[in-house]
Order: sequence, then C-alpha cells, then structure tokens
Amino acid sequence: MTFEELGLSEKVLKAVADAGFSEPTEIQKGAIPPALAAQDVLGLAQTGSGKTAAFALPMLTRLERGRARARMPRTLILEPTRELAAQVLDAFEELGKYHKINIALLIGGVSFDRQSRIIDRGADVVIATPGRLMDHVERGKLLLNAVEVLVIDEADRMLDMGFIPDIEKIVKMLPFTRQTLFFSATMPAEIKRLTEQFLHLPVTVEAQPPSSTAETIDQKLVLAPSDDKAKREKLREVLRAHEQGLTNAIIFANRKKNVEILRKSLSKHGFNAGSLHGDMDQYARLDTLTAFRDGKITYLVASDVAARGLDIPAVSHVFNYDAPVSPEDYVHRIGRTGRAGREGVAVTLVTPDDFRVMKAIEKLIGKEIPWEGHAPTEEEIEEASRRKRPARGGAKGRGARGSGGRTSRSRKGRTGKPKAQAADVPREESSVQEKPKRAPRTSRGKGAQQARASAGKTRETQGKKDTGQRKEDARAAKPANKASGRQDSFHEGNMPAFLARPVNKD
Ligand code: AMP
Repeated sequence: MTFEELGLSEKVLKAVADAGFSEPTEIQKGAIPPALAAQDVLGLAQTGSGKTAAFALPMLTRLERGRARARMPRTLILEPTRELAAQVLDAFEELGKYHKINIALLIGGVSFDRQSRIIDRGADVVIATPGRLMDHVERGKLLLNAVEVLVIDEADRMLDMGFIPDIEKIVKMLPFTRQTLFFSATMPAEIKRLTEQFLHLPVTVEAQPPSSTAETIDQKLVLAPSDDKAKREKLREVLRAHEQGLTNAIIFANRKKNVEILRKSLSKHGFNAGSLHGDMDQYARLDTLTAFRDGKITYLVASDVAARGLDIPAVSHVFNYDAPVSPEDYVHRIGRTGRAGREGVAVTLVTPDDFRVMKAIEKLIGKEIPWEGHAPTEEEIEEASRRKRPARGGAKGRGARGSGGRTSRSRKGRTGKPKAQAADVPREESSVQEKPKRAPRTSRGKGAQQARASAGKTRETQGKKDTGQRKEDARAAKPANKASGRQDSFHEGNMPAFLARPVNKD
C-alpha cells in the first residue's frame, strides 16, 4: 500500500515525499483511512511506529478546509511531556510545510503570554501538555468548544504521570461531535475505561512492537566487575577498543545518578561526553541533543527514561554500561544503532548480577549474544547463580523501574497521581497550579532556541525552508519503542541459557 492510496491531500503527499517516507508504516496504513473518514481511532502503538504521522497526516488534510477563530483552536493534541510535544510540533512543521496553518505549542517552562498571543490569533493546531493547557483554559485564554479533532497521545504514559483527571476535565469541555484519535502503547484497565468514555465506535489499529534486533547490529557482551569504579574503568577500556569506526555512541545507564557520574568520569578521562537525564530542564536536554546531532558530543550518556521517545539520531555504537532492567529496554536501546541496513555495534557490560536479565534478553531476541574478551568462568557463573542477589538497581531501582521506568501502581493514590516521583522519571508539569517558569541558564543552543521560538511564535509553516536538517534527522532516527506492560521474566529464576552452553572466547 502506498501513501497515495490512503486518500491524503496533494499537499500532504508532497510533504511526505519530501520527508523521504516511501511507504506507510502499519499504524499509518490502519489509522489514516478511518481518520480521514472522521471516525474515531484507537491506536495501539509505541513511539517509533510512525504514529505521529498517523494522526498528523489526516489532520493536515482535514485542516485544508475551514479556518481557525481567535482563542478557539480547531484541533488539540495532548502529549504527556514537553519533549514529546516539541517533537510533534516538529512533525507538523515538516509534514505541514505546504500548509498555511497556525500551530500553538502550550508547554510548561516557556512564556505564557506569548503562547496566549498565538491562541488569540487563532490556532489551527494546539499541541499541549495537560497542565499548561488547563492553565490557559482556567485563565479564560482558551476555549475548547470548537475543537474538531482531539488527539490523546501516549495515554498510558499520561496515566503514569497522573494526568488522567486533567484529561477528563479537558475532554468534558470539548464538543461531543469531535473526532478522537487515541494512542497508547498498552491497554491497562484504567486506559480501557477511558477509551470507552472518550471514543465512539472506534476503529482499533495495532502495531506490534519489535521483539527482534536488526541483523546488522553486531552484539557483544563484556564481563564487567560489579564495583562501580572498576566498572567505569572497564567501560573506558571497552570504549577505547571500539574507537575505530565509531562516529557517535549512546551509553546507557540505569540510574540517573550514574548518568551524571559516568559523564563526569568520561569527560575527566578525555572522552567527549554529554548526558541526558530526568533532572535536566528541557532547554538543557534540547541543547545536549542538538550538540549530539551536530557531532559536538561523541558519547551521549543517557537513562532509558530520559532517552525514551526522543528523536535521537541513529548512532554507530550503543554501549550498555548497565545491563537493562528489562529485555524490551535492551531491544529499544540497541535499536538506536544498525538502522537502515547500516552496520551498528552494541556492547553490554555484564556483571554477575546481570546473568539472569541477559538470559531473558537472549530469550526475547531469540539468539545468543557472544562474549567479547574474557568470558565468565563456570565458577563465576555458578557463584553468581548461587548468590541470588537482586538484579541491578537493588530494591530501590526495582521499585522505581519495575515496569519500565513507570511509577508503580502501588505508589499511587486513588486519583492515579503518583505519590512519589519514580527515581528516573523526568519531572513534568503535574498540576494546573504550576506557573510558567524559565529555568536559569547561561548558554542556550539552537535546540533551545527552536523550542522557545516554537512556543512563542505563530507557526506559519508555508514556505518554511529550515526543516532540511530536521528531515535528515527524522529520517535517520527511529525513536525507541516504549516498552510497557512488561514482565521481568528474569525474576522467574530460570537458569541463564549461556550458563549451560560453552563460552565463546573470541
Ligand atoms: P513516531 O513513532 O511518530 O515517533 O515516528 C518515528 C520516526 O519514524 C520519526 O522520525 C518519523 O519521521 C519516521 N517515520 C514516520 N513515518 C514514516 C514512514 N512512513 N517511513 C519512514 N519513516 C517514517
């Protein structure tokens, strides 16, 4: 099936061709026709599936008819985080480059008044995080009774972040006749209830998450000591051994504390490293990402949660400083390399505590990963399996990350709001009370400027020429697929596969 067969407008098809999309993805094939036919859609898809275009393309086609009125946006897209909202704006700018539409990005941390001025001029598309949107509505700056299309993106993540009560309030303000496009990677009971409440006879479309890793990725395990200092030294050894052919790399750590320690340590030892973790404000994150894209940073140290959903460019190497907590995270992490048939390298440091998760990873990807350098001896393996220690991160890490970095259900109150912030979850605006604030910064890069400009200016995307680089990035990038609803099967206490097989000494 081609994009032409989906019923999209000429302008949209032209932008799709410019973006280099040759064929629609599964979610696009399934969601675009009903979305164009004004039906509600329930999309079970993760970041990386092409779901943004699955709602953006039919919305753009639809927006060609009619005009926005002051303070009354025609379409509304709700995103759980500022970064995702900014990425959706990027997608609209790229795919809507032949349209003359006004887009307002309503996210925390950027000027409220400037956002308000855009809405006053009439926004065709509002992309917002729930807290900031509620702020605008409550100040009487925004009326939602002319919204024709509502998109709720990453609904399960909204649930994890405690946004559902806000979303319920928002939906009550929308016209009953609106079209709703609802996306979620998983379907917990609470989300199912919402779909029943918000959607009218929806067409359900499902895009399967990948469980396999690209054949073009050269995967290796390296035996590493559990002691942090010695492990960092091991990482440096591994990085040096892989310098040849390396253009850029992501180094994953499980805990945000380690991300910063690792970044500092690598910089001290002469590696050109930057970091991405949940405690950074969005300007700092965008600055880092821009520097990484531009090649000013070679090694990006990141946690899963900080990296999840971000349009990080493809890399030549992925290093897992910590073995991931769940097998799905492994697939997501290493999926950032070996794209589009190019060669990629993924090296995982494995301590004796990680043997169990490695077994679960090998089971998920359906193959054994060879050891590089010294392989664990029988004694080491036996000793490790006898000890039965909790997996990396200990009780704290497990509690916080037990379901893929989400706040565990048991820690939530009746409203579904998390009582405590998960260790690694970026803090986003979480209540309507939040006041706009700008984090103090000394230097701001292109990314941050873009974000501010995005938020503060009306986007008349007609004739916009500066999307070339972004298009390149977009094409090169395949964002992580959000794993969720997962079971950490290494809890099962199975004997790791490679404990029983002969070790590879290459
Ligand atoms: P998403 O799941 O919306 O975050 O999209 C993941 C990435 O895939 C983005 O970088 C998009 O630009 C890209 N993409 C979306 N649709 C297609 C397509 N049909 N062909 C190739 N790339 C696509």
